Amino acid sequence: MYNRNTSAPPLLRVAPERLALFLDVDGTLAPIVSKPHLARVPLATRRLLQHMQTRGVALAALSGRPLSQVRRLLHPLELAVGGSHGAQLSLTGGRSLTYLAALPDDLVRGLSAGIAPLHGVWLERKPAAVAVHWRQAPQYRAAVDALVHETLRHAPEWQLIEGHCVHELRHQGRDKGKALRRLMQHGDFVGRWPLAIGDDRTDEDAFAAALSMGGGAIRIGDVQPSIAPWRLKDVSALAAWLQQQLNRFGPGILDRSYKEGEYERR
Ligand SMILES: [Mg+2]
Repeated sequence: MYNRNTSAPPLLRVAPERLALFLDVDGTLAPIVSKPHLARVPLATRRLLQHMQTRGVALAALSGRPLSQVRRLLHPLELAVGGSHGAQLSLTGGRSLTYLAALPDDLVRGLSAGIAPLHGVWLERKPAAVAVHWRQAPQYRAAVDALVHETLRHAPEWQLIEGHCVHELRHQGRDKGKALRRLMQHGDFVGRWPLAIGDDRTDEDAFAAALSMGGGAIRIGDVQPSIAPWRLKDVSALAAWLQQQLNRFGPGILDRSYKEGEYERR
């Protein structure tokens, strides 16, 4: 299944308004650096992506980073984002965020009602997780355990992770492949040809999803095996390929609402 002898991607014949790009960030758009907080997506790459968008390409970033960090790294681009390995999804960019992996509200309400009489037990909502803390009330451990298992009976995609004095319910579907599939069902992405691009093991799920939908995949880096049929050496090689692909689309009208200075603001 894995393929070591992959070649560079050809220039695509797909029209920009039929193309959906799913891009990893670190090691794909941003060069790997010693400390993650120092990572930057080069200005030229952000401009290039914005031009692609203007030409009609649908863009999504799929990253292990939280959604807010992905947005900051790609500022001022407005694009769909799968953050936290797909646990956080933003379908439309901007401020309208949708946590598709949130525990259904009725189950959260049921849990809240269940712990209400358990003095000292409290509930914490996180992206793609709900934690029930009982550190201050260890006598209720068994009661919490029963409540959580009752909740899980109604939430087959969720699993229990027991921490130190905490029962955490976590969504099992945190992977970039599921994020890609979900995004492909929404808005701009519907009916497009998906191309997934990434540099590590977590991107293989996105590759598998794109390929299963008849799309393509590019693995960045030339060491690890991959199911991707195409390969590019590094971040710069990808940027160069994207530029060539943009050139192939021909000139478009750049959206002037993007001010040049916007790109410098971090
Ligand atoms: Mg990466």
